Amino acid sequence: MRLSRSFIPTLKETPAEAQIASHRLMLRAGLVRQTSAGIYAWLPLGFRVLKNIERIVREEQDACGAQELLMPTIQPAELWRESGRYEDYGDEMLRITDRHERDMLYGPTNEEMITALFRQSVQSYREMPQILYHIQWKFRDEVRPRFGVMRGREFLMKDAYSFDMDYAGAVVSYRKMMLAYMRTFQRLGLKAIPMVAESGPIGGDLSHEFIILAPTGESQVYYDAAFEEIDYLSRGAGGFSHDSADDLHRFFQLMTTNYAATDDKHDPVAWQKVAPERRREGRGIEVGHIFYFGTKYSRPMNCTVAAPDGSKVHPEMGSYGIGVSRLVGAVIEASHDEAGIIWPDSVAPFKAAILNLRRGDVACDAMCEALYAKLGASALYDDREERAGAKFADADLMGHPWQIIVGPRGAAAGKVELKRRATGERGDATPEEALARI
Ligand code: ATP
Ligand code: MG
Repeated sequence: MRLSRSFIPTLKETPAEAQIASHRLMLRAGLVRQTSAGIYAWLPLGFRVLKNIERIVREEQDACGAQELLMPTIQPAELWRESGRYEDYGDEMLRITDRHERDMLYGPTNEEMITALFRQSVQSYREMPQILYHIQWKFRDEVRPRFGVMRGREFLMKDAYSFDMDYAGAVVSYRKMMLAYMRTFQRLGLKAIPMVAESGPIGGDLSHEFIILAPTGESQVYYDAAFEEIDYLSRGAGGFSHDSADDLHRFFQLMTTNYAATDDKHDPVAWQKVAPERRREGRGIEVGHIFYFGTKYSRPMNCTVAAPDGSKVHPEMGSYGIGVSRLVGAVIEASHDEAGIIWPDSVAPFKAAILNLRRGDVACDAMCEALYAKLGASALYDDREERAGAKFADADLMGHPWQIIVGPRGAAAGKVELKRRATGERGDATPEEALARI
């Protein structure tokens, strides 16, 4: 994309309403704009990041055997009356009446709807187990929407639901999903740690929140740095496969024996046993949550599947959420500096920016056009009539992993300067060398 033709409204001033770094930077770099309290429009730069995160989430869901579908945002109240949650959900639910006076709602989550769909279509144990997911907008009328997309009212969530014949099966689904989560977060460049969460009425230990450290997090958290040393993506020796029960068991042991806890579950005695240099503590942001809840919905909603002996059983279910739009903010919280965003390569809106420091100079223009032709859609070409200083500042602000800087002196000698945003490292290179590195 040519910056001179693009819709990337950057701001020089720091917007007064933004209290945290990610919110400030998302507004300043032109990623989003608020359209009502807690509701945001995604502008081209932000939308690219959102799509990149969504793609990684999707690839890891697919890899663990989950199947993607798409449920609507608007749901009928009847479904929620069946589970008993219509009244319970309270003011966070946006309730709507249609022209026929029917009670509808904008979905805050989809347990009821997926259970109803499943109930209509799956009759036999032969069709089990199943994991279904979608990536869809949710609405929750949060009391205090804040911190930009981190706590919005409308937000994008990946929510998955597992259906198993028995508890043992549900445990396998849960572990697969946990592994998919650790892979997802590692690919996003995040150190997300699973922490035991409130498990609700069923009890047990099958409820985990995935938390990353950031100064503006909403809860205090503690964990053993051992979590950061595990390579969840490795598929070789010592790695984990979704298809091996042994691997899943070993993986789950690792996730639950190393120390990790939020404030309300913190155990100071156990914490003292973690070697001091391995203790990590600070504020945490929740980026995902997985949860086993047995027959909490399948029973009241009369969803049954025939077992081999002909008896009817209520499927054992779990649900698994990732805050896709919150992750855009979370990645920035984890990776930025004074000058702006520092995108991990995996989610960057553009791989590289090409900075033409002297538009109109024949050598500069020719070199930039040639680079841009090679890089195509993965590059943002700063071809504006602007001072070099403004171009440097905007490229740092937008956080492209690489900057290819083309000035008149270098261009005359057949050289560019290549800068790595994360380290600030820069060096001369020929255009070919630069292209080969990025
Ligand atoms: P929180 O405690 O932050 O309100 P929650 O327990 O209500 O989260 P879940 O219902 O488990 O969240 O939703 C799954 C994921 O969706 C969360 O882990 C979070 O990443 C994301 N999420 C939840 N509420 C919001 C929101 N208001 N804005 C953006 N993302 C959200
Ligand atoms: Mg909530």
